[in-house]
Amino acid sequence: MTPNTDNTDLNIPLFERAKALIPGGVNSPVRAFKAVGGTPRFVKRARGAYFWDANDQRFIDYIGSWGPMILGHGHPAVLEAVQQAALEGLSFGAPTERELELAEAILHLLPSMQMIRLVSSGTEAGMSAIRLARGATGRSKLIKFEGCYHGHADALLVKAGSGLATFGNATSAGVPAEVVQHTLVLEYNSIEQLERAFALHGKELACLIIEPIAGNMNLVRASVPFMRRCRELCSEYGALLVLDEVMTGFRVAPGGAQSLYARDIPGFQPDLTVLGKVIGGGMPLAAFGGSRALMEHLAPLGAVYQAGTLSGNPVATACGLATLRAIGQPGFFAALSARTRALVEGLRGAAAAEGVAFSADSEGGMFGFFLLPALPRNYAQVLQTDSARFNQLFHGLLERGIYIAPALYEAGFVSAAHSDEDIAVTVAAAREVFKTLAKP
Ligand code: PLP
Repeated sequence: MTPNTDNTDLNIPLFERAKALIPGGVNSPVRAFKAVGGTPRFVKRARGAYFWDANDQRFIDYIGSWGPMILGHGHPAVLEAVQQAALEGLSFGAPTERELELAEAILHLLPSMQMIRLVSSGTEAGMSAIRLARGATGRSKLIKFEGCYHGHADALLVKAGSGLATFGNATSAGVPAEVVQHTLVLEYNSIEQLERAFALHGKELACLIIEPIAGNMNLVRASVPFMRRCRELCSEYGALLVLDEVMTGFRVAPGGAQSLYARDIPGFQPDLTVLGKVIGGGMPLAAFGGSRALMEHLAPLGAVYQAGTLSGNPVATACGLATLRAIGQPGFFAALSARTRALVEGLRGAAAAEGVAFSADSEGGMFGFFLLPALPRNYAQVLQTDSARFNQLFHGLLERGIYIAPALYEAGFVSAAHSDEDIAVTVAAAREVFKTLAKP
């Protein structure tokens, strides 16, 4: 255990050095521990369910690179595929057969997609899907939901305006008002707002983009009636339904969250799907896809421009393919789901035993928990969490060698490498921390 105040903590000088070189010392903001305070752990190496920091302290990793590491770190088949691919060449800027194999593997699992384009990040995939939706429909406006994150493309860095008649306000400096003027931000799971928005703007909407199981407000599911209404209204008004499955794709089920909604909503399919994280297995790879008719609007066939120097990179596609093959083994998702449920049930039990208000949910290898008595249904409800208590929980777990997301609005991930013992250790540690948690 290495508290941050200890001057032997080797993460501290690294963070000081980092802050002089890189804004905030990190290459992606949430890594900086700004929400929870303290010093980020600098990772030296990782294997299976664990990583080791600058002090060589081992942590049970429930972030897994924010989702991609579904097999755990250093899976032998993935490492072998990456090493072999690297020997054959790092990047060609020309087509490879492996891109086709990955495309076939993904299309086979997601019947809503007949064609796919590979890109390098979820941001790029989401941004390109929206451009395609606008290009294909000839419309400009789009709906997104408060608390959903679709990457940092300008048009998506937006929060709700003052009413349904007004469009969004930028959440980042550097995004001109004109760029977000077409983005309407609604409350997640509110059928009433959805219907009013379509009644007002339906004919001008290019698309509605949504995280079906939102992992950027911890874990909040779109209710089945809400998702059904999203589908119906998009079809009725000629807007495209875009499911952002960057996080949920190949993480909650082999067919993504869309396969789960299709169990309750007969014939349910999105028009476009955005993918990332697991499909790259830890390398920079993402994708978007949909019907042939829609995808053929993309250059070089159609008028919607989209391109990338490293798109379909041969090492990244090798990594993604090896990952998809491993998760395609019989029983993979049943085992992963059971382990994740065991974690969530264990945490629930530990909180109940210590009298801590707590709710939690999981799907496949993705979980979320809240220091709230009931599961929230939208972002405003998530934000009712007492952040000081969450921070206490976060640091209590960290000191005990358990690494969860350093922000209360992020989902967690279990990998196939997490053992029953890892889960038991985590639950026991959480119970110790719950004991010390200030009662609200
Ligand atoms: N969409 C969702 C649902 C995400 O969770 C993320 C990233 O966390 C993105 C898009 C953006 O992906 P990337 O970070 O690869 O740009």
